[in-house]
Amino acid sequence: MVNDFKSKGKVIWLTGLSGSGKTTLANGLQEILGEKKISTKSLDGDVIRTGLSKDLGFLEKDRDENIRRVAEVSKLFSDLGIITINSFISPTKKMRDQVRSIVGDCFVEVYVNTPLNICELRDVKGLYAKARKGEIKNFTGIDSVYEVPLNPDIEIATEGKTVQESIEELAECIITILNKS
Ligand code: ADP
Repeated sequence: MVNDFKSKGKVIWLTGLSGSGKTTLANGLQEILGEKKISTKSLDGDVIRTGLSKDLGFLEKDRDENIRRVAEVSKLFSDLGIITINSFISPTKKMRDQVRSIVGDCFVEVYVNTPLNICELRDVKGLYAKARKGEIKNFTGIDSVYEVPLNPDIEIATEGKTVQESIEELAECIITILNKS
């Protein structure tokens, strides 16, 4: 898989609450870049936790280790000129800083900024309802902290926007970055 784009690889890291729109934006971005013949690899919890990290649980140290592995793999991809689009809540600054330190210059932090009340209204997977009932513990935004990125490379605020508008906004920012590198 070789990109005929002149850019180096990139690690596009989407962080945000559950239901904020990370997966939706990642899929849309992948499609738009694909139309421009720019190949990408999409990584998310489903892909990683059934393979690379299937030995890990959800304790804090396991979550940290999961993110570290994703960062290391993404770095290897980026060394080959491949763009990864990574969708992980990655709630703490510490986690995201670790990714940045592993990945280096290729890291593009994208904060998918959707307020908790909107994510909860969307409740894509019914997880917020379960967390509110106490059926899921340590759910980010409910009883576990989400530390808002203070200086992301890109911020996409989805409230009041259509999916298409948000995808196009993200794609435009990413294409600008790719053109510069
Ligand atoms: P996450 O991967 O962050 O958990 P998802 O992408 O799975 O979130 O879910 C986001 C939900 O929000 C989807 O059902 C999507 O259709 C909806 N949505 C509504 N407006 C937007 C928007 N402007 N951008 C992204 N998603 C949106």
